[in-house]
Amino acid sequence: MILSFYPGPSKVYPQVATYLQDAYQSGILSVNHRSAEAMEMVKETYRLLHEKLEIPAEYSIAFVSSATECWEIIAQSLTRQQSLHAYNGAFGQKWAEYTQKLGVEVIPKPFDLNDACELTEDAELICLTQNETSNGTQIRMATLEKIREQTTGLIALDATSSMAGVAFNWQLGDLWFASVQKCFGLPAGLGIMIYSPRALRWAEEINERNHYNSLLFIHENAAKFQTHYTPNVLNIYLLKRMLEQVPVLSEVATHLKNRAQAMIQFFNQETHWEILAENPLIQSDTVLAITGEKEKINQIKINAKSHGIMLGNGYGKWKENTFRIANFPALTDNEFSIVKHFITQS
Ligand SMILES: *Cc1c(COP(=O)(O)O)cnc(C)c1O
Repeated sequence: MILSFYPGPSKVYPQVATYLQDAYQSGILSVNHRSAEAMEMVKETYRLLHEKLEIPAEYSIAFVSSATECWEIIAQSLTRQQSLHAYNGAFGQKWAEYTQKLGVEVIPKPFDLNDACELTEDAELICLTQNETSNGTQIRMATLEKIREQTTGLIALDATSSMAGVAFNWQLGDLWFASVQKCFGLPAGLGIMIYSPRALRWAEEINERNHYNSLLFIHENAAKFQTHYTPNVLNIYLLKRMLEQVPVLSEVATHLKNRAQAMIQFFNQETHWEILAENPLIQSDTVLAITGEKEKINQIKINAKSHGIMLGNGYGKWKENTFRIANFPALTDNEFSIVKHFITQS
């Protein structure tokens, strides 16, 4: 099996093989999602998410289809007229574009790759990409705190490639979302939305109920440990089993942060490659974007494959001049030694 460092879908936890078998044996895959068994499983998964990801008790959790769906839910259910989008990469920009297509007045605030996201404007809704998977940068909690202090608006964060890998101060955001195929180390097909009581009140004031995935319908069902549509029961089961075995997030996050630092140092000091984002204050803990000549990038990806290693392609504007390496929890330190060894030799 190829060792994948792709930043999503990435390597799944090896335990998934057993969990899949267990899921089948348990009979959970054939039960109705409004049955007591399914509700019990959802309830326990929420409890584990709160416990392991250290999510404040008053924040609600809901299951959706994907992170991309959350872009749409936010545009539909949490905006009155305007939505401010600060971004420095492809995912943040796409979110802004889809929001605009849904008829919301978007205030785009692009910022430079090496800049911290320093916003001085206020808006009723501020949309941020906590970890920009396309270029390996992140908005740190200290920066988010400054943004929080100067706005009365709601803050929504795309944390698709950092949730379960980076320790957030959850209170600094009103709505956080992710998909499970990145730091959760699971197969794709499930999104997780985590939102504050304030976000809920906001949605109630707007009272948007025109879509199957209106936030109020989602919440009314989530409060009963159900989903408005038939959910990905298998993935919820896998999530529950995975959460049972992982340490609490603060431990995982410290480990990943140290490993990211070591990898950044390795690339900058021991190789002819460089980390795309030079500013240490904004480098991502979970996705490394490495830059070099286009030809060499192509070559190293091909060589890696022949050594059983999958490096991630560049993305968006950086498609040609970078390759990416996921630093997700399911990848082991030993696997990082393998990729380092390969890069040193090649
Ligand atoms: C992967 C990713 C998405 C898309 O996730 P889906 O599961 O495909 O919806 C959105 N935003 C960011 C930052 C991502 O890394």
